[in-house]
Amino acid sequence: NANTEADLSPVRWFRLNSLKVQDDQVLKWFPSLELVEQFPGPKQIMKDKYVDGLYGVSPEYGSTLKKNKHYIEGEIILQDRASCFPAELLNPKSGWCVVDACAAPGNKTTHVASKLIHTGGSVIAFEKDPQRARILQNNLKLHGADQLVETRVQDFLAQTEDRNVKGLIVDPSCSGSGIYGRGNKAELDPERLIRLAAFQSKILKHALTTFPEAECVVYSTCSYHDVENEGVVCEVLQDEEIAQNWMLASRDEALPEWPRRGNRELFEEFNMDPSLAESLIRVERGTDGGIGFFAAKFVRKHYNTEPEW
Ligand code: SAM
Repeated sequence: NANTEADLSPVRWFRLNSLKVQDDQVLKWFPSLELVEQFPGPKQIMKDKYVDGLYGVSPEYGSTLKKNKHYIEGEIILQDRASCFPAELLNPKSGWCVVDACAAPGNKTTHVASKLIHTGGSVIAFEKDPQRARILQNNLKLHGADQLVETRVQDFLAQTEDRNVKGLIVDPSCSGSGIYGRGNKAELDPERLIRLAAFQSKILKHALTTFPEAECVVYSTCSYHDVENEGVVCEVLQDEEIAQNWMLASRDEALPEWPRRGNRELFEEFNMDPSLAESLIRVERGTDGGIGFFAAKFVRKHYNTEPEW
């Protein structure tokens, strides 16, 4: 089938790699493209308003980018807009040590690293699959992130307490139902989804309980299935110890302008306040300009409550 589902995405996104390029010269690099504000046509380019340094082009133009010298040299990175949201949501403070718990191939790792450059901050990237870890390491090198990122080829679940870590990105394996070419509802085995959700909850709980100084944890999937998304968030917040220490960031702290928010029904099912769904990010495949996605931002309660005096 020549017309693969990948071609159906209305926009192809690429991110200027600020680890390698200081000034944004993207519009100069693509002089034949007209800057527009809506999803771009074949000779147009759009600058995204949610993610710094992110640009969208048409699928036709996007298919030429892999031959572009700025791509080959690692100065631009093909990364869907939604997949940039976790590092945006984490928004690490200067000097933070950030963990990427499930890192390969490393798009979110390099994105978060680019926010820490020149701040004294660093990233620890976990990847348990050695083959995927090699891909991760090659990408880190190509994108100029290898000095900032320490790769650990190990199971994140085996990581013990670490007081240096301030923020985490948790993007575990998922059904991928939000990705083009996957996720036909009828093809997805409900038992597999339940197994995936159990694994995702375990990884997220580990992130929320192993780093006593962590201030923020962002959980994400490229699935549209509630059970892997709001289901995991609600499940994790049922844990007393976690609920004592963590809460969902308010909408104001979680891409407030992004219009599509979480699914309220799941919170009702868990007897939780449905307005919490406003804190969550949903991205609908196609309609929202790329893959289907979900993201949740947890913040430590201690750091957000007003002092009592
Ligand atoms: N965050 C990546 C990115 O944006 O480029 C994509 C991550 S992919 C969805 C999930 C990755 O987590 C896979 O490479 C998988 O091998 C890895 N993984 C799964 N379980 C893990 C674990 N327990 N510890 C470390 N890595 C794990």
